[in-house]
Amino acid sequence: MAQDNFKPVVVWLILNGKTEEALTLLAKNYKVNVPGLRVGLPKGRKIKASGCYTARNETISVLNSDILANPFVIIHEFYHHLRCKAVDKIHRGTEKNADRFALEFLREYEKAVTKAQRVT
Ligand SMILES: [Zn+2]
Repeated sequence: MAQDNFKPVVVWLILNGKTEEALTLLAKNYKVNVPGLRVGLPKGRKIKASGCYTARNETISVLNSDILANPFVIIHEFYHHLRCKAVDKIHRGTEKNADRFALEFLREYEKAVTKAQRVT
């Protein structure tokens, strides 16, 4: 796959409910383990969130099945997976970076969509 297609494809897969495929693709691209994926947040969370990442078992949890198709949340949580692997198992204060990482994918997706529309 051409590198410039990578980000749009990841977003497309998530939007179409192929979230596990998207995570497999992401993991392959960044050379990390494929994170687990589950619906339902771990108990005892104080903060209400759409998703969270648990480094202990390398699992991305999402609030409900709608969120499974939300590229922003999935890619944001994947960023935590990346960062945890790179450093140690501590969830770091990288929320802004995770948002930036996810937005970059969405931007590339929008660009690809716009380009496709121009051709047809
Ligand atoms: Zn986060």
